[in-house]
Amino acid sequence: MTDAPASSSRAFVSLIGAGPGDPGLLTLHGQRALQQADVVLFDYLANPELLRHCPEARTIYVGKKGFSEYITQEQINALIVTTAQEGGGQRVARLKGGDVFVFGRGGEEAEACVAAGIPFEVVPGVTSAIAAPAYAGIPVTHRDVARSFAVLTGNTREGGAHYERLSGVDTLLLLMGVRNLDQIAGDLIAAGRDPQTPAATVQWGSTHQQRVATGTLATIAEVVKEAGLEAPAVTVVGEVVRLREKLRWFDNAPAFGGPLSGKTVAVTRTRDGASALGDVLRARGADVLEVPLIRFEPAADGGAAALSALRDLEGWLLLTSNQAVTALFSLLDGAGLDARALARVKVAAVGPSTARSLQERGVRADFVPSTPGARHLGAELPVREEEAALHLTSQLAEDDLQRALEARGLGYRRAELYRTEAARPDLNALERLKNAAVITLASGSAARHLAALASADFDPLSLPAAAMGPQTADAAREAGFTRVTVAGTASLDALADAAEVAAGQSSRQ
Ligand code: SAH
Repeated sequence: MTDAPASSSRAFVSLIGAGPGDPGLLTLHGQRALQQADVVLFDYLANPELLRHCPEARTIYVGKKGFSEYITQEQINALIVTTAQEGGGQRVARLKGGDVFVFGRGGEEAEACVAAGIPFEVVPGVTSAIAAPAYAGIPVTHRDVARSFAVLTGNTREGGAHYERLSGVDTLLLLMGVRNLDQIAGDLIAAGRDPQTPAATVQWGSTHQQRVATGTLATIAEVVKEAGLEAPAVTVVGEVVRLREKLRWFDNAPAFGGPLSGKTVAVTRTRDGASALGDVLRARGADVLEVPLIRFEPAADGGAAALSALRDLEGWLLLTSNQAVTALFSLLDGAGLDARALARVKVAAVGPSTARSLQERGVRADFVPSTPGARHLGAELPVREEEAALHLTSQLAEDDLQRALEARGLGYRRAELYRTEAARPDLNALERLKNAAVITLASGSAARHLAALASADFDPLSLPAAAMGPQTADAAREAGFTRVTVAGTASLDALADAAEVAAGQSSRQ
């Protein structure tokens, strides 16, 4: 026996540019690398929302914020290498803000991989140097105004010694320069740049916290200080800054500055659930924090009882969530079956969203109640007396549906289709949850799981909550939530509306 050759190891490092903040600015290659990762090391400037592309991966925060470093670059380099070598070798995604090789010390991380003999790839990202101005309506070049640009760092020990060399460059893009802006502007003027050159500083560009201050090279430091802008920010110096007046687009679009704009809205859902609600909230300007509180597991008996109940069923199959549809089809698939297994039964969906999930799998619901909800399904189901009603659901299903059917003198059977288990968010998610302006609750069990996270330094019950419907709201109040806003109807838009109302009552960002 010999040791496995090194080439059979899985060890691989992707150095990925996460883009400037807007999660839509990750590249497709970056997304794929995240999906394949075993471990993700991410930065302070890499939007943590991107972690939803890698729900199964272990995530390690290696943020360095400004000058107070929690972890040194050398430690990060070593961590990349040891993480890649762990076990039989792992796929490491190293997610870096902006582009990998623009000031992020990505070159040193690549060198560390080379030194350790670990194969790696570089996935360039959209750099904040260009994107932050772009989101402020400032093109870094323009045919009539600027034909060249330079990207510089304000964080150097030698100060402005090299500024003379930049005299022929039209647009200057200054990163890491807020702290020293006063001195840098002075040095640039001393090096011959016109003090009247327009200048703009863009903080948290491309995110809903974006703020912009404009002035001239002579005034920008003062303007920035007055406006209270801090890192991370890009300062643009050049005639192109004037174009903002005409080209401003992002920070005066309707979603920007809306009630949810720049606020963190926590969405409780399974890590693997589709995040349609997240998309609705993002479109309204919210920063969405997906908190994995529950995860779905196969039924305790592997679904045997559900399958056999389905085989014997003469009558109605009742499905009360998207997850039930997902679990049903994976159960059928595992048993070598498909949608034809439902050919003999009638199918009822609890609401339009569940009906849509069915339709996506080629099954049209025979019945959807006029108002979504288990109670209404039970009250309205057009079931004949000789027909059975089988509810395939999780072990935690509430009994509203059963009660409503039994109140009509009808039969009801239930079999476990999947299990809902608690999933504890990691420390990083918990930390961000503390700062959420609102938390959305899509189900009573989410409310209970969240309440269970209470600890000495975190009281989830003090967060304003937006509940999907009256039943969820009741469950939330029972669990101890005191500030509950109820969605007007059981739709994602109504839930987002409720989140806006709840956010209005919140003082948090
Ligand atoms: N590799 C990164 C830059 C890392 S240096 C990139 O290509 O963007 C960190 C600096 O980047 C910050 O101090 C700030 O100047 C800038 N920066 C990063 N994200 C930013 C953002 N969303 N808005 C404004 N500046 C940003």
